[in-house]
Amino acid sequence: MEKISTQVPEQPGIPAVSAEDIKYMKAALKQAEKAIAIGEVPIGAVIVYEGKIIARGYNRRNTDKTTLAHAEISCIRKACKKLGDWRLEGCTLYCTLEPCQMCAGAIVQSRIDRVVIGTTSPKSGCGGTLLNILQNPDFNHQSEVLYDVLRPECTEILQRFFKDLRRRNKEEKKMRRLAETAQADS
Ligand SMILES: [Zn+2]
Repeated sequence: MEKISTQVPEQPGIPAVSAEDIKYMKAALKQAEKAIAIGEVPIGAVIVYEGKIIARGYNRRNTDKTTLAHAEISCIRKACKKLGDWRLEGCTLYCTLEPCQMCAGAIVQSRIDRVVIGTTSPKSGCGGTLLNILQNPDFNHQSEVLYDVLRPECTEILQRFFKDLRRRNKEEKKMRRLAETAQADS
């Protein structure tokens, strides 16, 4: 007779979320709050090396008027400066949103060991959603990826931003219509 196991099956390849991961994702969320405060899409990132945050970054694309101002890119730039090396081996990058093609490319190029992602991006995610640049076996480097760390919080901040944006756009449209009507009446 076949033995029936009463143990919960192990899930190989699915690493457990540690308290450290939660702590650093919270730090990345703090960066996302900085972005929302200046009217940018709230995306934040931090890079951790030997148990310490060595770089922080948040999206500043509109403020700096460059697509290169993504949270992950500015984090990578700061970490490289701090370590004095373009290689970021031994580093973990925490990002509130799944990296885009540009950032995922930079992550692989800088040989970051591990990437911890908050929420996935259906429009630009290159950590597995649209493409998996982070783990393409044909590249010379693959990062270990952990998904869904503080996913509800990372999703909520984006939803909050877009909801507010829609409300503001609607108000603006209403004001414009009122102004046009007033002009037509005069
Ligand atoms: Zn990006």
